[in-house]
Amino acid sequence: MEIWSDPKTMRKQHPIIAERFPDLHPPFAKQAAVLEANRCLNCFDAPCTAACPTHIDVPKFIKKITSLNLSGSAQTILDANVLGASCSRVCPVDVLCEGACVMHRYNEQPIEIARLQRFAMDSFHAGGRKLRRKYLGSRAGKIACIGAGPASLACAAEMAQQGFAVTVFERRELPGGLNTYGVAEYKLTASASLREIELIEDLGVAFRFGVEIDPEGLRRIDREFDLVFIGVGLGQGHGLKIAGGDHSDVVDALDFIAAYKMARITNTSGKVAVIGAGNTAIDAANAAMRLGAEEVSIVYRGKRESMSAFDFEYEHAKLEGVRFLWQTLPIHVRADGGTLEVLHCTKVDDALRPISGSEFSLPCNLIITAIGQSPLLSLLESAKGVTLDKGRVAVERETGQTRNPRYFAGGDCVNGGREVVDAVADGKRAGTAMARQLEAAYARF
Ligand SMILES: Cc1cc2nc3c(=O)[nH]c(=O)nc-3n(C[C@H](O)[C@H](O)[C@H](O)COP(=O)(O)OP(=O)(O)OC[C@H]3O[C@@H](n4cnc5c(N)ncnc54)[C@H](O)[C@@H]3O)c2cc1C
Ligand code: SF4
Repeated sequence: MEIWSDPKTMRKQHPIIAERFPDLHPPFAKQAAVLEANRCLNCFDAPCTAACPTHIDVPKFIKKITSLNLSGSAQTILDANVLGASCSRVCPVDVLCEGACVMHRYNEQPIEIARLQRFAMDSFHAGGRKLRRKYLGSRAGKIACIGAGPASLACAAEMAQQGFAVTVFERRELPGGLNTYGVAEYKLTASASLREIELIEDLGVAFRFGVEIDPEGLRRIDREFDLVFIGVGLGQGHGLKIAGGDHSDVVDALDFIAAYKMARITNTSGKVAVIGAGNTAIDAANAAMRLGAEEVSIVYRGKRESMSAFDFEYEHAKLEGVRFLWQTLPIHVRADGGTLEVLHCTKVDDALRPISGSEFSLPCNLIITAIGQSPLLSLLESAKGVTLDKGRVAVERETGQTRNPRYFAGGDCVNGGREVVDAVADGKRAGTAMARQLEAAYARF
């Protein structure tokens, strides 16, 4: 196993990872981008803008590409979505903006909104441009953001752009949350995620890395800061609770994905079983294939129709060579002399009851579990006056405000696990409301 030791080196992609995870949707060349932008009908009441959780003015940014006003185009994107570059790479556009494109009604290909967005944002980054401040100068009020994932980053950027002092506390060594550590590398490289965040650092946002906020830390933050944004995402994956499920070669999908994205592992050998059939399972299975596994099987107790992964992710995994074992339940893991050898399984009926006599052995050397993440209950429950609803932070939708008026929240810890663009939308909404609240509070003095 090769170690690519210093996380800071992730600002450059490891050559083996770069070779095995090339861009899934390569960027447009200039001429192709202008041609594609000219196909846009510039709809009034654009359904794409309505379908985008951050409500980017899609026709407006596309129109600016037709005249090669790329900085204007990027600015339109950034006004709505400060992580416009990463969203252009990771958004499941079939079910968002491109899925809503009117071109579908004419049996035409939808406008490639995400690739156009990437084109504008790449040009913005290549030109060394900076994020615009909305308020020149500084305002009274200190804000803490817990977690440095997309939700907190969007909140921090909005508050800093409005002149407030923001400190982000992050337990990991690098910012970005799942944008840096989780999203498939062929969609968004860890280095591209970090490059985008440098612009938020440039706004003056202070980052404290390697700081895991616990209940005591939260009490300190409560004393020191005026307002707090909670953007901690979800916790660890559920473990495999069957005999042998604690073997060292049974690993959590998020750990596996983070390990290859940080290039702590650059290859996988032998046969791999991935348990679960959500988007994370698909990402882990595709990654294992690309890292050189001999065979990768997704083991899922339900039928194809009940898998939670998007259809396009399922189709993609089949193209990568992943095989699917439907209505299959793991029973126990067998190791021989410490080496993982077999996952014993049984077939189940439609009510998920084991079918007697259907047991079989699936040879495998590595098992990756992707059966959902648990909420970070002990931290969330310790936040004074913040209430939870089924493990999710309860907030007022328009502002992200919790039952404690000094605490706001957004992203996966509120919605239970959706997309990057939803987390960005939550963070920006909360940042805007927090700025209003601070402005009003300090105006009284
Ligand atoms: C494997 C995987 C692949 C995905 N792929 C896609 C995709 O292709 N497209 C897409 O749109 N979405 C994708 N998603 C979903 C998307 O990544 C999330 O919805 C999004 O990152 C949520 O942002 P967040 O800020 O709420 O949480 P996170 O991104 O999880 O960030 C939370 C941050 O808080 C930190 N933190 C947690 N607890 C503490 C603490 N106590 N103290 C300090 N810091 C703390 C964490 O370390 C983390 O950095 C994927 C998710 C997974 C798991
Ligand atoms: S942010 Fe995502 S959903 Fe919104 S317009 Fe861009 S690609 Fe589409």
